[in-house]
Amino acid sequence: MRLAGEVCDTCGLPKEVCVCQDLETEQTVLRISMDTRRYGKAVTRIEGFEDTGALKEMARELKRAMATGGTAKKGWIELQGDHRDEVKAWLSQRGYRVEG
Ligand SMILES: [Zn+2]
Repeated sequence: MRLAGEVCDTCGLPKEVCVCQDLETEQTVLRISMDTRRYGKAVTRIEGFEDTGALKEMARELKRAMATGGTAKKGWIELQGDHRDEVKAWLSQRGYRVEG
């Protein structure tokens, strides 16, 4: 007999041996894109974060690393200027999977 909550809905294994949550974290893929605002200024956008706390910390570190301004929005980070290549390298070094 199985009680609700004992078995993972995704893989069917008992929760204590299930690794679905870990895999989900490893499989988080961030997307980097460039947006041009109406007034013609480029912004680099990084999307794919699930954790708002991590997002804010990441925004702070990225702004420092890229020496630019930016904001943490709900679910994404915007940096002023086109920093796609630098941001991609920076995130890859930290173990994030990046596309775009
Ligand atoms: Zn599972």
